[in-house]
Amino acid sequence: MATIKLDQLAHAYRPNPQAPSDYALRPLNLEWRDGGAYALLGPSGCGKTTLLNIISGLVRPSEGRVLFDGRDVTDVPTEQRNIAQVFQFPVVYDTMTVYENLAFPLRNRGMSRSEVDGRVREIAAMLDMSAELNRRASRLTADAKQKISLGRGLVRNDVAAVLFDEPLTVIDPALKWQLRSQLKQLQARVGRTMIYVTHDQTEAMTFADTVVVMFEGEVVQIGTPAELFARPAHTFVGYFIGSPGMNVLPARVEGDRAQVGGSTIRLAQGYPRLPDGERIEIGIRPEDLRFAASGEGLPIRISRVDDIGRIKIARARFEDHDLNLVLPEGAQVATGAGVAVPVPDRVHVYAGGHLVEGE
Ligand code: ATP
Repeated sequence: MATIKLDQLAHAYRPNPQAPSDYALRPLNLEWRDGGAYALLGPSGCGKTTLLNIISGLVRPSEGRVLFDGRDVTDVPTEQRNIAQVFQFPVVYDTMTVYENLAFPLRNRGMSRSEVDGRVREIAAMLDMSAELNRRASRLTADAKQKISLGRGLVRNDVAAVLFDEPLTVIDPALKWQLRSQLKQLQARVGRTMIYVTHDQTEAMTFADTVVVMFEGEVVQIGTPAELFARPAHTFVGYFIGSPGMNVLPARVEGDRAQVGGSTIRLAQGYPRLPDGERIEIGIRPEDLRFAASGEGLPIRISRVDDIGRIKIARARFEDHDLNLVLPEGAQVATGAGVAVPVPDRVHVYAGGHLVEGE
């Protein structure tokens, strides 16, 4: 196990100092605590795989250093970094049995036969695969093969870290739920540093104690799932996390208020005073927008209502913008209706995409 530190790390696949926007990964400092469960979350192309490959040694960073427990491993090749990796697609030996596949990473490590046997059976039990140990891998479904890959990644207890790159992509959706929480329990039991790359917020939130959110080659927020939801540090985080994501409205500062078109939103006390006329963005979670009984509030017009089971989500026009709001259970709203929603207590203020501190 190890604490992994990234020191002034950056990467450009084709370095060009004149064009910093060519960075696949902008300069960052990050520490992954020993035994921590991390998710690296972000949309396609934001640099997640690049970062993971730098940690494993598959990619050498163009700037900065990688440290394992204080030791500089930037130039240490992958096979000497002692990292276990699980990829999107199964990596199993078809001609071997499940048992042999799980035992493979333990062979040649000076472990006794009974130690190997104990580890293999323990991991198989954790993954509900005890009954399949003697089956040949070629006879298994893609789901079961990927479970073997997960097992192979977790079976060694002498690794510095386990890295997962979108490991549940090929898994059937019904089984995904089960595997997700199994993985979380496994992490807690084996207590190893684990980094889980995904673009799926539910996967990230289920697995990780700490989520690292990336956007366009940059780490935009590091926090617990609850923190990311309650206090997005960047408009992108608010929009990306949540279903639907946070509403982001362009506004202008006027005293202690924000002006969105002809409507006024009073900002909570405690915000630093921003200069009048400054362009900002207001972030409001769809769950925080509630209908007013009194008819007082922001004037919105409902353009669509989607019934998604227990809740309904309404799309509405507000000034020149589209908004989402979660309707309370049993609410009856007609498309085209003009209604009012009170300004919620929880309104986030952003300047240039970044949260203005002071809440
Ligand atoms: P995805 O989920 O689609 O894999 P990602 O978040 O993992 O995306 P990366 O694969 O790390 O993102 O890619 C980050 C950026 O670097 C992208 O703009 C991508 O096109 C670029 N990139 C990735 N690999 C290479 C490479 N080998 N050579 C040049 N550019 C690359």
